[in-house]
Amino acid sequence: MKDKNALVLFSGGQDSTTCLFWAMKNFDQVETFCFSYGQRHAAEVEVARSLAEKLKLPFHLRDLSVLASLSDNALTNSAMAMDSVLPPSGHINTFVPGRNMIFLSLAAVLARSLGILDIIIGVSQTDFSGYPDCRDTFIRSLNVTLNLAMEEQFIIHTPLMWLNKAQTWQLANDLGALDIVRNETLTCYNGIKGDGCGHCPSCKLRNEGLRQFLNETMR
Ligand code: ZN
Repeated sequence: MKDKNALVLFSGGQDSTTCLFWAMKNFDQVETFCFSYGQRHAAEVEVARSLAEKLKLPFHLRDLSVLASLSDNALTNSAMAMDSVLPPSGHINTFVPGRNMIFLSLAAVLARSLGILDIIIGVSQTDFSGYPDCRDTFIRSLNVTLNLAMEEQFIIHTPLMWLNKAQTWQLANDLGALDIVRNETLTCYNGIKGDGCGHCPSCKLRNEGLRQFLNETMR
């Protein structure tokens, strides 16, 4: 895959930062694409920006606040309490309908204008928590659609697709990025960097994965 450029969908969280290091290993030049869409932890945009600066990577930021105006969900509506477990029917209320479809579609448009065909997103089917747009079938389907839409040969890479959170920590470690991913990313729904608040659904998933990874490596 060397001698190529890639565009990474980058939010400054654990998953997309791990993907960023994966991209830097596998591609010659990497650019980052970040959206501001009224997410509860607006601080994540600043975390993403400073990480991109630190790694000396181009940082493309676009406003997508229209997304929050189209549907009600706990990720963009701070008055709504977040589900901590998957409800018996329907989707977890932090699901932002259409988010990954829109992110990837806009990423393809930007990538094309930058002369890039490889797009990287940190979705995982293993930990998809009821988010249908994190599944492999959806990503493959959209890849075909984007190629048809723009008559291009985009490749959407999903390095985390079949990894659980512990394996994602393992990957960060293998890429020599464990410390930076652990201390400088923001995954917490309450906007606390690094190990986070510890009790929101996102922290629980992240910290449980970290604990499992550390236990396995210590053995
Ligand atoms: Zn948290």
